[in-house]
Amino acid sequence: MAGEPQEDCLFCKIVAGTIPATIVRQTETTVAFRDINPQAPTHVLIIPKAHYENAAALAAADPALTADVLREAQAVADEEKLDSYRLVFNTGSGAGQTVWHVHGHVLGGRGLEWPPG
Ligand code: 5GP
Repeated sequence: MAGEPQEDCLFCKIVAGTIPATIVRQTETTVAFRDINPQAPTHVLIIPKAHYENAAALAAADPALTADVLREAQAVADEEKLDSYRLVFNTGSGAGQTVWHVHGHVLGGRGLEWPPG
């Protein structure tokens, strides 16, 4: 069922605590943790605790939860004292999505070029 934990999902396991992660923030509905392979001095992933495959599926199913995720990105940026940051939702393998539990990348702490690669 939409939103239910998936047995084979890495990020559902981080939510459940069965795989360790460096958690920087947690709310009733979201978890923010450091990326294992950081691409910037701050590289934090924000996920809803509920399982949705990508940002579009999350937004269609639960707009309030989508807003929770977006608010948490700013909360992470505030905690990390980032004036500017990039919030990225890779969607689809062609765009680099490798984990099929929606996550926003908060990237900051260095200059970020545009367009991204
Ligand atoms: P995607 O490529 O799907 O947009 O992003 C997945 C992100 O998850 C990658 O940046 C990758 O480094 C990160 N990642 C993959 N496995 C783990 C893990 O076990 N722990 C943490 N903290 N991050 C992970």
